[in-house]
This record gives sequence, C-alpha cells and structure tokens, in this order.
Amino acid sequence: MESLVLDIVTPNGHHYKQPTGLFINNEFVAAASGQTITSIDPATDKPIATVHAAGAEDVDRAVHAAKVALGHASWKKLSPTDRGQMMAKLAQLIDQNKELFASIDAWDNGKPYHVALNEDLPEAITTIQYYSGWADKTFGQTISTTPDKFAYTLRQPIGVIAQIIPWNYPLSMAAWKLGPALACGNTIVLKPAEQTPLSILVLATLIKTAGFPPGVINILNGTGKDAGAALVAHPLVDKVAFTGSTATAKHIMKTAADTLKNITLETGGKSPLLVFPDADLEQAVKWAHFGIMSNQGQICTATSRVFVHRAVMDEFLARFRETVTTTSIVGDQWDENTFQGPQVTRAQYERVLQYVDIGKREGATLFMGGEKAVVADPKNRSGYFVQPTVFTDVTDEMRIAREEVFGPVVVVLPFEEEDEAVRRANDSTYGLGAAVFTRDIQRGHRVAAEIEAGMVWINSSQDCDPRVPFGGVKQSGIGRELGQAGLEAYSQVKAVHVNMGTKL
Ligand code: NAP
Ligand code: MG
Repeated sequence: MESLVLDIVTPNGHHYKQPTGLFINNEFVAAASGQTITSIDPATDKPIATVHAAGAEDVDRAVHAAKVALGHASWKKLSPTDRGQMMAKLAQLIDQNKELFASIDAWDNGKPYHVALNEDLPEAITTIQYYSGWADKTFGQTISTTPDKFAYTLRQPIGVIAQIIPWNYPLSMAAWKLGPALACGNTIVLKPAEQTPLSILVLATLIKTAGFPPGVINILNGTGKDAGAALVAHPLVDKVAFTGSTATAKHIMKTAADTLKNITLETGGKSPLLVFPDADLEQAVKWAHFGIMSNQGQICTATSRVFVHRAVMDEFLARFRETVTTTSIVGDQWDENTFQGPQVTRAQYERVLQYVDIGKREGATLFMGGEKAVVADPKNRSGYFVQPTVFTDVTDEMRIAREEVFGPVVVVLPFEEEDEAVRRANDSTYGLGAAVFTRDIQRGHRVAAEIEAGMVWINSSQDCDPRVPFGGVKQSGIGRELGQAGLEAYSQVKAVHVNMGTKL
C-alpha cells in the first residue's frame, strides 16, 4: 500500500483528507508489517478506506518512540500548566472539526450522525477539557513523622501506556484514555479497534497541531491478535489500559503478568434495571428503552436485564412495546429520524441474531423483533440492521439472561420482593451498571448500596460524566476511569524521606 493519505467524501458531503499510516513520532509512516485493514460501512456493506495495520516490528518502534518521549525534556520538563494548555488546545481543535469527526464515526461505526455529533463528540471534547484542568492540580502530600524527619510524596507518571480501545464509541473511548494519561504526564501508544480505524487518524493530525512533542501520543491501527498482543507483551510498556470484552481482558491480564504490568480493565456487563411498583412507569419505560436500545445496544453498561415487579408487568410491557414501536426507528446513519443504525460489523449482526435463536430454543417468548430489519433504501439492503428485540418468559438461567449480547436485545423478568430482585440482579459474573426505578428515596438508596455494580442510576440509565468515576466490579473490570479516580490509574506515588537531624 503506497499512499499515506486518501481524498474522501463522506456520504453527508464532507470532503477531507484521510491519513492511512501509523502515527509514530508525530509522523504518518507505512507499516513495516505490510498488513492493512479495510473499514466497512455497516449500512451498505461497502468498503470505506484501507489503512495500514501494525505488526510486532511497528509496535516496537512506537513503544520506543513513547519511551524516548517520556524522558525527553520537551515532555518531561514541560510545566504542568503548559501540558494542560496543550490538552485544552487539542479539545478545542476537536470541537472545531466536530462535524467531520461525527461524520467519520457515523460512517465507520454505523451510529446515527446526529447521535455522534450530539453525544459522542461532546463527550470526547469535554473529557479532554476536564483532564486538561487536572494537569496542574495533581500534587503529592507532606507527611510529618518525627521532630527531625518528615516525608513527602511525589505523584509521578506511570510511564509508557498501551491503550487498547473498542469500536462502540471510537472517539470518546480514545478521549477517556488519552485525557487522564496525558494529564499525569505519561506517554502513549494507542490501538483503536480494527472495526473503526478512521477518525483516530484524523485526530492524530490535530495532536501535532496542538503542540504535543513527537512520541508522546502514538497511534497504531492493527488487529488485536497482532498489534494488540505485541503491545501487551512489550517489556517497555509499563501499563495496559483496556476496554472491550471480558474474554480479551483475561488474556491481557495473563500476558501483562509476565512483566508485572499495571492494568486497568473495563469490560462487559449484563446490567440490571429494576422497576419497583411505586416507580413512575413512564420514566421507567423511557429509560429502560434508552438503556438497551441506544447505540444499537452496543454499550458495555447497557441495562439488558429488566426486572419488573409483577404488579406492574403488564402495563410496563404494553408501554415498552409502544415506545419501541414509535422510538426505535431503524435506518442508516444519515437519516435524521434514525434512532438505531446498523450493528457495527457482519460478525456482530450475526452474533445478535444467533442470540435470538438461542433465546427461542431456550423457551423464552419473543415479545417483539428478533429478525433482520429491512430498511426502505435499496442501497442499504446488505446492511447489518436488526429489529429491536424483547424477550419475555425468561428465566435467570437462560443464556440470554446471563451473557452479554451487545445488541438491541433485552430480557424482561418478573419479581415479587425487593430482596429477591436484588439477589437475582446480583446473580451475575458481571457488575458494571445497574438502574433502580422507585419513588421511595429510602428504597432507592438502599438498593443502590446493595447492588453489586460499579455504577448505579436511580430513576435513570446510562448517565455518564467526565467528573464521575466509571468502572466495574467482579468480571466487569479492574480500576476506574474518569473523574479524579481516573488519575489514580495513570499516576504513581513516590515517597521521599527527609532527615533534617543527626540522630539514628
Ligand atoms: P474485543 O476483542 O475485546 O476488542 C476490544 C479491543 O481489544 C480491540 O481493540 C481489539 O482489537 C483488542 N484485542 C483483541 N484481542 C486482543 C489481544 N489478544 N491482545 C490485545 N488486544 C486485543 O471485543 P470485540 O471482538 O470487538 O467485541 C466482542 C465483544 O466484546 C462484544 O460482543 C461485547 O460483548 C464486548 N465489547 C465490550 C465493549 C465495552 O465497551 N466494554 C466494547 C466492545 C465490545 P481488534 O480491533 O483487532 O478486535
Ligand atoms: Mg467500520
């Protein structure tokens, strides 16, 4: 593959230059591996662009660049104030190009353009802005010990960070990773998901414009099995920060153990949403719908198990059907009316439909959906569209109630008692999000405390804010991202003992 830049026009008319190389030391370079990745438009099943894909040799080169940058005065001696300003500048540059970024992510991932523009982009921009403010506010402590002695602590970067991100929110997942790592003074090699390789390369061009020294942020497209695995195994990588499936996270943890790398893992979920009989049902239905059907159901915190008190089950289901029918409009990325675009890849599309079959074979009732969705426009006939799908008569043991589908598929389960609802909600290997709908404030807080999850929403679902810690318990992850907690993941504390006296 020769060219390192392509002239592209997006389906909504943005003419832009798409870099295709690996971004190392602030330059786009060809992959030594000779490997490529072709990005596909999931609405049409047609290729968008082919980019370079890193192999082990490329990974080694990028890691060395990050290692050199870590010790280079241009980064190491940069004042935290200047570092913060560089980050703020990057956020501003993304903001100035937000329509282009939203167009690329919508095209590449399948999410509606208006969602990319109004949800993903603000999230990416505010996350980098938020952490730009932390850059000059992360201090150590002074600790008094004896009359002659004291100690102080320095909060220092961890070093070279490998960041491996998924495809469901390409740009905002990158921002979640880059923001806190840069605020703490680390250097980075980031591997995007092979399904969504494009927007991050445009971001790379802005990294240079914002003034980051060469080697501070390196971006390598590539597959998990080649580029991802080589990064995790590389001896000069000090930490791996990963978002993706629990299966991959286990693999990464094992490999990282060889050189005792620090890790942060944000993985899957089967998050419960509990509707008590005193809930505002209109709100419960609205959020239950949003909690599973938004982003094509491709959200790690999707509230995919809805437990509804038996007294309100019939009304809940009737209203849920109505909301899905009127709100979950399936279509391509460019139609303003689209709520649900295609699934990201053919593999994910097939996986979702397989789970529908599994549910049917397990004896659950297909309450609605369950088929390929046929959209009107003939150019989208081969797109990966799935109907929003609801199962009832589900038991806790069924695979559709236990495994992460990662699509617009929800199971609705009845319950009778609060204790029972909490016990069944907690009967999962996962523990990422959870939602509770009730008008009883005591119950709301009591259940929030009892649920095994990293995040709980009371009378809501999917709220996420750069100021608020995000992460899972049990097999949903290790460590926290976002908020002040996110800084812990990217800094380490050094203790310095000072002796001002002469006594032993
Ligand atoms: P995945 O395989 O876990 O991918 C996540 C990231 O890890 C990608 O960048 C991937 O590279 C990389 N990767 C894969 N194998 C690796 C390895 N051995 N070493 C290092 N990195 C590796 O997830 P997926 O295949 O895209 O999706 C499968 C399932 O994961 C979904 O159905 C869903 O259940 C879950 N998922 C969860 C989230 C989340 O936000 N928690 C996001 C996406 C998916 P490639 O780009 O080459 O795959
Ligand atoms: Mg794609």
